[in-house]
Amino acid sequence: MCNEHSPSAGRNGLSRRTFVERAALGAVAASALPLLPGSAAASPAEATSAAGRRPGRIDGRNSHYPSNRVPLVPSSYVPLPLGSVRPAGWLRPQLLGWADGLTGRLDEVWPDVGPNNGWLGGDGDVWERGPYWLDGLLPLAHQLQDPRLLEKANRWIEATLASARPDGYFGPSGEVAQRKTRRAVAGEDWWPKMVMLKVLQNHCEATGDERVLDLMTNYFRYQLQKLPSMPLGEYTWWGKQRGGENLSSAHWLYNRTGDAFLLDLGQLLNQQTERWAGRETNDPGRWHVVNTAMGVKQPGVWYAQSGNPADLEAVDNLIQWLTVMHGQPQGIWSGDEELHGTDPRQGVETCAIVEYMFSLEQLLPIAGDLRHAEILERVAYSALPAALSPAFGGRHYFQRPNQVACTLGPRSFTVRHQDDTLIGLETGYGCCTANLHQGWPKFVQHLWYATPDDGLAALVYGPCEVTAKVGDGTEVRLVEETDYPFDETIRITVRGASGTRFPLYLHVPSWAAGASISVAGQRQAPPEVGTVTRIERSWTDGDVVELRLPMAVRATRWHENSATLSLGPLLLALGRVENWSTVSDRKVGPFEAYEIRTDEPWNYGVRQADLEEPAGAFEVIRRPVPEQPWAMPGAPGAPSAGPPIEVRCVGRRVPEWMPYGPDSGPVPWSPIRNEQADEKLVLVPFGSTKIRIAEFPVTI
Ligand SMILES: [Zn+2]
Repeated sequence: MCNEHSPSAGRNGLSRRTFVERAALGAVAASALPLLPGSAAASPAEATSAAGRRPGRIDGRNSHYPSNRVPLVPSSYVPLPLGSVRPAGWLRPQLLGWADGLTGRLDEVWPDVGPNNGWLGGDGDVWERGPYWLDGLLPLAHQLQDPRLLEKANRWIEATLASARPDGYFGPSGEVAQRKTRRAVAGEDWWPKMVMLKVLQNHCEATGDERVLDLMTNYFRYQLQKLPSMPLGEYTWWGKQRGGENLSSAHWLYNRTGDAFLLDLGQLLNQQTERWAGRETNDPGRWHVVNTAMGVKQPGVWYAQSGNPADLEAVDNLIQWLTVMHGQPQGIWSGDEELHGTDPRQGVETCAIVEYMFSLEQLLPIAGDLRHAEILERVAYSALPAALSPAFGGRHYFQRPNQVACTLGPRSFTVRHQDDTLIGLETGYGCCTANLHQGWPKFVQHLWYATPDDGLAALVYGPCEVTAKVGDGTEVRLVEETDYPFDETIRITVRGASGTRFPLYLHVPSWAAGASISVAGQRQAPPEVGTVTRIERSWTDGDVVELRLPMAVRATRWHENSATLSLGPLLLALGRVENWSTVSDRKVGPFEAYEIRTDEPWNYGVRQADLEEPAGAFEVIRRPVPEQPWAMPGAPGAPSAGPPIEVRCVGRRVPEWMPYGPDSGPVPWSPIRNEQADEKLVLVPFGSTKIRIAEFPVTI
């Protein structure tokens, strides 16, 4: 039942005919609400009337995979079980790199998730770090079918299942739970269980282990009984702020078992969770960046139960407010513990990046809002690789859009260590060391969704294969061959179909003007950007769908009216040759920590005339995608040829833009008059850089 509806409950909701009629209305125009700054501008009036114009929305229930069960609102898309999507192309070496690197070795070098961890019955950490690591390790193990990683993950799964008490509680308990951890948190805190529930769900989906359904049912009964006297915030602030995760897990189980008490629990969880809907208008208090990255989905998760469109609008309003007040061009917001404005020298924490990705991956099927897909691609292909070591052995604590030195020393962060900008295993706080692992595997998991009319949908793209049941229940395999986001062409070959009828949905992003689709060699009508295109036919083995998404260089304006440049989903940056030097007292096991500097100048602006007429001003050079595309020359693991994309243009030095300590000074207001000589600049994917400028002054 991990991947099926329970037989006891009927599949009510929209009739198939109603659904098909709605789907036949075709793609709905993209909303004009700009959730990514710099995307098509919308007036405030347009922004407030966004509900009902969700471009990817289709309603119904899938015949083969658990969908929202009555009375939950039918979802637009249906998540596929873990293991349905496997990485291919350039993505596979990324995942193999982490399997051989930090993800696959963390327990061997870092005691926090080692054999003495409290979740394994030891006297080590009893809180979030073990579950965090498992939340990445387990999906990675299944996607790669790696026996060594599967064995590591299963040890934790068995220990967790064995920890279940007769009263329904699970996890570290008794004396272990009462002991203070180094974060001074009692082990019976509701919060770390929210992470482990995600892990158990994935385990259930990948293996069919129904013990998970029993554990979750018993635990949720325990919660329903205990929460009135011991609410989510009883032990920690985190439990109250992050209750949306708990609610999402209750819905996951409800869709499988149909136990009505889970909806009562849902009500209670929603009541006890921080009120994220409208928080931007009434709470000037602490906005912790990771809580925000998780909380932004909470009204959307609750919408499945409330059915109130205002809850979906609340998600839009939150994202829009965050973008305007704290937005950064790599797709997220600054947050060095607290949200911290739009200055490109402020940082964002790696935990926030992977949690925002997961939030978007969860919002997509609920709201069917393609803007979430575009933000997800931006974060996955810019912020995520920028946060991680190209040698798979470390990460930033904070990354910054304009970052010209990653060195020891204080910076203007709300919580500061001396080493927040370094790449290392435990620079800054260790939460990111445990939590980074879910980033790539969860993204791969969501490269495809099932659809309520028993088809499949690609809302974000990357090289992969998906195996899933479609139409009458036939299992097909779709092979997605592409160098996306480094290339414009996506080729999907259908395998295992013989006259199998099912719809295929393909997202055409808002930036892809001139996109084209061909099916089995036949050119289709030009698709509309900002929509999903629906292709329904009887598919035969070997049918090929080819999608071309033209990528033109485009400019948007940011902090102090600075300019950023994008190519398709990729944010571009001025990369520099990087000097990586080890910091010996921060080495953990074989994993080095690094300071990163450059000897090259960085204070360049771009010319206003080029932004006004980008055609002809930017030359795009593509090379074969190397095994590690996310690295600049000088970085460990970097390919000799550099990143697979170069965008050549002209820029000018801006003498007024001076250093400030080791960093860049305040970016001057644009435009700025400039008499300097033109120089050739080479822009590369932001995600390939650690030293860079992404927000440029504009010269006239
Ligand atoms: Zn963190």
